[in-house]
Order: sequence, then C-alpha cells, then structure tokens
Amino acid sequence: METMTIQHHLTEELLMAYSAGDLPEAVNLIVATHISLCDECRAALESYEAIGGAVLDSCESVAMSETSLSSVLSMIHVQDSEILERETVAPTKHGVLPAPLADYVAGGLENVKWRPVGMGVKQAVLPTSDEASARLLYIPAGTAIPDHGHEGMELTLVLKGAFQDEDGYYGRGDIEIASEDVHHTPVADISEDCICLAVTDAPLRFKGLVPRMAQPFLGI
Ligand code: ZN
Ligand code: ZN
Repeated sequence: METMTIQHHLTEELLMAYSAGDLPEAVNLIVATHISLCDECRAALESYEAIGGAVLDSCESVAMSETSLSSVLSMIHVQDSEILERETVAPTKHGVLPAPLADYVAGGLENVKWRPVGMGVKQAVLPTSDEASARLLYIPAGTAIPDHGHEGMELTLVLKGAFQDEDGYYGRGDIEIASEDVHHTPVADISEDCICLAVTDAPLRFKGLVPRMAQPFLGI
C-alpha cells in the first residue's frame, strides 16, 4: 500500500464546480485525478454531492404538475448515475498514471508520446476541449522550468517525483493552484525525475499577445 501525505489540495470552488459538472474537460481531468489520489478531497466532494441531493429534494416540495415532477425525477436519476460513475473512478493508487489519466494516454506511461521542449524537459499535450489545455510534463531531476507568469489559472499535479517553487514543496498527489498574479520557478527535486499533469484555463488568450518566456518554451 502506498502511503503519502498530500499537503496541497483543491479549493472549495473547484470541488463544487466539479460536483456541479461545470468545469472544462482539462480542468475536470486534473480535479478527477487529484481526487483519485486524495482521500480528503474525495470525502469533501461526497459531502458536496450530498448537499446537492438535499437541494433537489427540497425542490420537490414546490407545487408542480405531474409531468414536471416526473421530469425533475428523471433529472435526479441522471444526477445519481453521474455520481456513481465518478465514484467508480475514485481509488486507484497504483502506477504513475491514475485511472482518469490513463484513459487519455491509452494505458500507462509507456504509451505517452513525449515531445522535447528543451533542457531535457518533455511534454505531451492531451486531447481535451479547447476551453482549457492539459499536458503531461517530464522534468529531469534538478531541472528548473524558467520563471514565468500565467495568463489564467495554472494547475499542476505531481504524479511522480516532486518539485519546489517559491510557494512550497509539492510531492505526488499535491496540486499547485497558481493564479495570474503568480510568478514562479518550479524546480524538480534532485532525487528523481518529476512527472506532472499541468492544466491552464486560458490557452486562447495567449494568441496575439507578446509571448512570455514560458510560452515558446512549453509550446502553449
Ligand atoms: Zn486533496
Ligand atoms: Zn507556472
């Protein structure tokens, strides 16, 4: 059994948006992957989903025709099955790539199509909808990603190894949530190569702007 202490978690906003099904595909993927590794966030999610169910229950007391009642009931039914689907995705603590991610690379790490981006760093962009982008990053031990800012939110989840930046130390399962006002220089821990899942929510806003240092480097 794998023992780990996750120090850096999802925000309440992200958990609630995930629970409501409101997130772009790439953000949904990184949230699902963190949840699959993190008992604490999984428990929080389950409590939000219980609250969501209670809200639906109270809606039923509003007077409505039989047809609208049956449509509400069918909505509840759909929600229930979605919740079940998410729960089956939950605890997979084996291997570098948890289940939600494995689906995107057709199996394990050996199927990832890495592309070099310089200084030994490699990336593999995952196929998601355009609202946000997701990529796997491979950072050799001790290597730094150049200091960079973010046009939007950047979420980075460690899958293997660890990295450190101005905000703290991130090991497997930890997620860093960097907003646009964050400038940082993540450095992979010297002990082993680091593999991360990184999601940015504003890939389209990069277009037409003066490129920042990290953009040509990471190709986003
Ligand atoms: Zn967590
Ligand atoms: Zn960053």
